Amino acid sequence: MALFDTYARWPVRAVRGEKHWLWDESGRRYLDFTSGIGVTSLGHVPDAVKQAVAAQLEMLWHCSNLFQIPLQEQVAAKLCAASGLDRAFFCNSGAEANEAAIKLARRYFQVVRGEERYEVVTFHGSFHGRTLATLTATGQEKVKVGFAPLPEGFRSVPFGDLAALEAAVTDKTAAVLLELVQGEGGVVPAEPAFVRGVAELCCEKGLLLIVDEVQTGIGRTGSLFAFQHYGVVPDAVTLAKGLGSGIPVGALLAKEDVAAAFAPGSHGSTFGGNPVAMAAALATLEELERGGWLERVRAMGALMKERLEALAARTPAIVDVRGLGLMLGVQVTVPVADVLAALRRRGVLMLPAGTDVIRLLPPFTIGPAEVEVAVRALGEALDEVAAQGGAAKAET
Ligand SMILES: *Cc1c(COP(=O)(O)O)cnc(C)c1O
Repeated sequence: MALFDTYARWPVRAVRGEKHWLWDESGRRYLDFTSGIGVTSLGHVPDAVKQAVAAQLEMLWHCSNLFQIPLQEQVAAKLCAASGLDRAFFCNSGAEANEAAIKLARRYFQVVRGEERYEVVTFHGSFHGRTLATLTATGQEKVKVGFAPLPEGFRSVPFGDLAALEAAVTDKTAAVLLELVQGEGGVVPAEPAFVRGVAELCCEKGLLLIVDEVQTGIGRTGSLFAFQHYGVVPDAVTLAKGLGSGIPVGALLAKEDVAAAFAPGSHGSTFGGNPVAMAAALATLEELERGGWLERVRAMGALMKERLEALAARTPAIVDVRGLGLMLGVQVTVPVADVLAALRRRGVLMLPAGTDVIRLLPPFTIGPAEVEVAVRALGEALDEVAAQGGAAKAET
């Protein structure tokens, strides 16, 4: 096979998707609780987005940001109206959105405010992307191995530890970069008091609060942005995964005075805000406004959490159930990869997170029937793996 070996790929050769269903090459159908890692939130190939993209394909594919692109202005207006922020910059991925946010924070202090501040504080267990700056920002050592020298200007402190954050802030600190529910790190929601404390500290010390909503954004947690659950308004927000329903698109939103740090020529992207990507983002946002989707995320999220908690009560291998909306994590004592494989044999797809968490990011199209099927399959898979472990232990 001619591909880089960058992923430990599953033995599922995916060729087609519809709503919460995914088919492999042999025609086998899976119940997809991964949404392509939180991307296809409206389900695979959602009709409204498909039609908007198909219409755009007849009109204009690409022109560059030398031109004014009306669709970009529409998507920006929608994102700003919904978030309370003022400006949007478009790129193509989550890492790029965070990279832009880091650059914006540095430039805001060094060019606009005339202060030598550049340091960004992040949190252990966080994930912010794979570029050199964003992997350095990421609070997990495994993504950094072999990539030295890493860029300067980052430090990370324990997630949820306000005192440690306070101690890490110096006269060089520019920003705090925070996931409100750590996704890759193990589906760990921040405590509301901690988030309020972070926002107050940022305000008091004049730091920018940047919230990484690449995974939590665009309805995943039951509100359009996760920060809306916490009653804080960040200075900047990054988005990507769910924004284009599977067409690649990322965004950085910021308050007016902060966004002013990017003048013509200071940042850019050839593909960023491409008309096809913007058609997908606009249709995704319009569909979310129209459909009662957020109510559904909250209702299905609550139902699934209740069912998972009931499963946990009778399954010793489950030690915790947590999350927000349709971003849920089940912490287990058995090997996650084995559980995911046992789930696939039962026709259900789920994700890993951290070292010992099964992550559920189903599309918003699921109903009570899919919740029942998925939770039952998870229970069976956990029993199967626990029994194997018991057998293996008995043999040794
Ligand atoms: C996935 C993710 C990223 C990186 O996004 P890419 O599109 O893979 O670059 C950044 N931050 C968070 C919170 C993510 O979940």
